[in-house]
Amino acid sequence: MVNVKVGVLALQGAFVEHKNVLTRLGVPSVEVRLPEHLENLDGLIIPGGESTTIGLLAQKWGLLEPLRAFARSGRPVWGTCAGMILLAKEVVDGVPGQPLLGLMDITVRRNAFGRQVDSFEADLLVPVLGDPPFHAVFIRAPVIERVGAEAEVLASLEDGTPVAVQQGHLLATAFHPELTGDVRFHRYFLQLTA
Ligand code: GLN
Repeated sequence: MVNVKVGVLALQGAFVEHKNVLTRLGVPSVEVRLPEHLENLDGLIIPGGESTTIGLLAQKWGLLEPLRAFARSGRPVWGTCAGMILLAKEVVDGVPGQPLLGLMDITVRRNAFGRQVDSFEADLLVPVLGDPPFHAVFIRAPVIERVGAEAEVLASLEDGTPVAVQQGHLLATAFHPELTGDVRFHRYFLQLTA
């Protein structure tokens, strides 16, 4: 598709599924586990999983500041589910001291829909993707409770709860677009690298 190379943070969680979508789109991807893996990348995806585990491993491997610097360099970063939690400036119901990147001016509530059994799917209207609605899978998902002035809501649940937001080159989705076979969110992210 586009001539770019995308990193997928591969410390824990659903990184292989994101890589598979990128491969389907003809985009080479790199598993990021150490700061030097961020070199020469055009964008980065932070997958779903456990935000506490991903954050602690990122801290352990000295990745927190390099990840922040990567985003500050203007290259697009997309967090899905746990990845969205890591991108947030503020987390409600997080584990005390859980490391965050704190890059997006949003407040998210962890596990807002309850336990694993309360996972659900929903068809979302996403104007930037057009028709048809995007079938979204929520797995122990966070919700976005506050959207700062710089961030823009891309999609909400029927009750108005925002579940996808964008702040310039930063993108966050509470759900898992890598699990459904609909590649439109990945395409949308890739065009941010242009
Ligand atoms: N509940 C997880 C967390 O708080 C996120 C779940 C997911 O990424 N599917 O980190």
